[in-house]
Amino acid sequence: MTRSEQLFEEAKHYMPGGVNSPVRAFGSIGEAPRFIKRADGAYLWDEDGRRYIDFVGSWGPMLLGHNRPEILESVLDACKRGLSFGACTKIETELAKQICDMVPSVEMLRMVNSGTEAVMSAIRAARGYTKRNKIIKFTGCYHGHCDAVLVKAGSGSMTHGVPDSAGVPQGCTQDTLLAEYNDSDSVKAHFEREGEQIAAVIIEPVAANMGVVLPQAGFLENLRSLCTRYGALLIFDEVITGFRLGASGAQGRFGVAPDMTVFGKIIGAGMPVGAYGGRRCIMETVSPAGAVYQAGTLSGNPVAVSAGYAMLNILKNHPEIYDNLNAMGDDFFGQLRKTVQKCGLPYRVNHIGSLGCLFFTDTDVKDYESAKTSDTKEYAAYCRHMLAHGIYLAPAQFEAVFLSSAHTKEMLEETLEAAEAYFRR
Ligand SMILES: *Cc1c(COP(=O)(O)O)cnc(C)c1O
Repeated sequence: MTRSEQLFEEAKHYMPGGVNSPVRAFGSIGEAPRFIKRADGAYLWDEDGRRYIDFVGSWGPMLLGHNRPEILESVLDACKRGLSFGACTKIETELAKQICDMVPSVEMLRMVNSGTEAVMSAIRAARGYTKRNKIIKFTGCYHGHCDAVLVKAGSGSMTHGVPDSAGVPQGCTQDTLLAEYNDSDSVKAHFEREGEQIAAVIIEPVAANMGVVLPQAGFLENLRSLCTRYGALLIFDEVITGFRLGASGAQGRFGVAPDMTVFGKIIGAGMPVGAYGGRRCIMETVSPAGAVYQAGTLSGNPVAVSAGYAMLNILKNHPEIYDNLNAMGDDFFGQLRKTVQKCGLPYRVNHIGSLGCLFFTDTDVKDYESAKTSDTKEYAAYCRHMLAHGIYLAPAQFEAVFLSSAHTKEMLEETLEAAEAYFRR
């Protein structure tokens, strides 16, 4: 038994499934999860002393790799001044200002503690602002685990084949309408039927929880114009894409401005943080400025905010980071695609910038239905092979491969060689 296996056995006695978040259990690849002891740059080390090249990056936050000195210093400094005050601190305003400067559609924002909380609160604000109840979400898009959006969600719930969850009363999802990603007609149909009741359309502008699925030309623009026409709010869930696809996220990259944006992951640089923001008139409905109640004992926590602020400062002052990451992504995923083809396999590689995914299918992946054609057993075998070769991929098909600025050419070559060995086996 490895040390990780022993630790997992013990963990299972005390935590459901041995974990604090389902996908960590490695259930879909049939191995014990690796217990991680430490990380540095683009490497992870497990409790057995094995080293891995990390392509999960804590599911997105580690855009600059682990232990970036400027971020660590900022966090350690903040720790020394006190872990939490439950009172105003000036760094909260600095971070809010930084985000508003970098993402023009966001004029005002509220910090929370996770992406889930940010989504939940954004939906409440959208409903409060529009005085309407219904929301439209897309099958295969994941917006955290709050009741209203846990319908045909991607990520862990997709791998486990239970898109809905026990314990969610029907009443909580009866105002959630489903549409198909990359199919604006499916959205239009809802608006034509009950447009005056729809508060918001929420979407991952690049879907990254059913693997990686890109928006087709015109799709986001169509959502924008439908929302404007019917007086509904367009909410971009940029928990993954925000500050990853560029300094102003997917909205900057595609040139489509939402009414509200949800952030998480990168804005906490690895600390538990989320935020939601948008047009001033919408955000002014949030308490205590307005009537939409939302609060948090640890929201805007000084340590977490210091981490995020240091992260965004680096990104703002070094725009070349994005040029390098995007070039690295084009090169790496392009080579992966070539390797697959060279080995005579029909598999698909979707990617944008530093975000990508290999699907074990011969079908172009453009939505939930096509994503589901991927052979998840084959993915599991591939993932086990890569792990054995020191490459740490998400232990589930419907997650992204996350590149960071700490990945080197040599690491990526090593990864491609391990992948090729699998394809040729
Ligand atoms: C991770 C994720 C969330 C949820 O964030 P948590 O911090 O895990 O609650 C929401 N939306 C998207 C797109 C995500 O990838």
